[in-house]
Amino acid sequence: MMNEVTVLENGWIQVKIPLPFSLRWVNSYIIPEDNGFTVIDPGLRTDEAIQLWDDVLEHFKIEWGQITRIVLTHQHPDHYGLAGYIQQKSGCPVYMSQRSHHYALRLWGTKSDYPAALRELYLEHGMPSELMNAIEDNLLSFIEKVSPQPIVSYIEAGSTLVLGGVSWELIDAPGHAYGALCFYQREWGWMICGDQVLPHITPNVSVVPGEERDPLAAFLNSLEELKTYEVKFALPGHRDPFTDFQGRIAELQGHHERRLKGMVEQLSEQPRSAFQLCESLFGIRLRDNPHNLRFAMSETLAHLFYLEERGLVRVEVRDGEVVFFAS
Ligand SMILES: [Zn+2]
Ligand SMILES: [Zn+2]
Repeated sequence: MMNEVTVLENGWIQVKIPLPFSLRWVNSYIIPEDNGFTVIDPGLRTDEAIQLWDDVLEHFKIEWGQITRIVLTHQHPDHYGLAGYIQQKSGCPVYMSQRSHHYALRLWGTKSDYPAALRELYLEHGMPSELMNAIEDNLLSFIEKVSPQPIVSYIEAGSTLVLGGVSWELIDAPGHAYGALCFYQREWGWMICGDQVLPHITPNVSVVPGEERDPLAAFLNSLEELKTYEVKFALPGHRDPFTDFQGRIAELQGHHERRLKGMVEQLSEQPRSAFQLCESLFGIRLRDNPHNLRFAMSETLAHLFYLEERGLVRVEVRDGEVVFFAS
């Protein structure tokens, strides 16, 4: 058996699609259907990922044309990137939520306003412009990793979808990505949770220009809702399937509570810009890694905006730069 492949107890196939960054892999799930196979989250488009797909299909004697459907949990490039490529190989439909699709088009469409909007946001929150240049180059490097982009059909939260012969409830799961869906199978107690709940990794919660200002509130509310589902087995977008879904949610909630409290403490010692706070939380070595720096900066902003919305910090603009104070 190949290292990257695990056959789950119900015959579904977990494939660890390689990623060229610290997450290491994204999980794709191949689901046997009566008339072919459904693929969940095919991965980022890289030569290594395409090679693995060729090897996996050969190993299981699956033809491209037997992939009858691609279903995406959310729009992030590590999940969405290969959807168009596999659609061209197989001719299959690609399903995702409308909101997720709009985000994909906005980020990687021909006239994206996103890099300019992100630059404006980061500069006013204290990031030096040379670091922003590297972030912009990194953003542009993703276009080829999500191309060709798929033709998409929509599925929406509140409806159901049959996967592997059983019905799954679609749950709106915002905060990590607006428009993200979780899929819940009530009789089995299985949850396909994308990146909303991950084992060992804290899902990134980022401020995205042009979207709601308080993604951390949306994320924490979503965790509260997901906690009410009885889950025996969770299939995440990264790392391996796991059983203690409620316990993991509690850990993530605890992490954000501690992080919020720590930030207020730091600001009560000394007012700072979001960038200064980002560097004190995540370290200055991120200056050499524009991809991780973007995640860290947007995550810091998400926490600060959450605190500001609740009156726990306040802002002043000094010389064109936004500075946060503990209230
Ligand atoms: Zn994601
Ligand atoms: Zn991901």
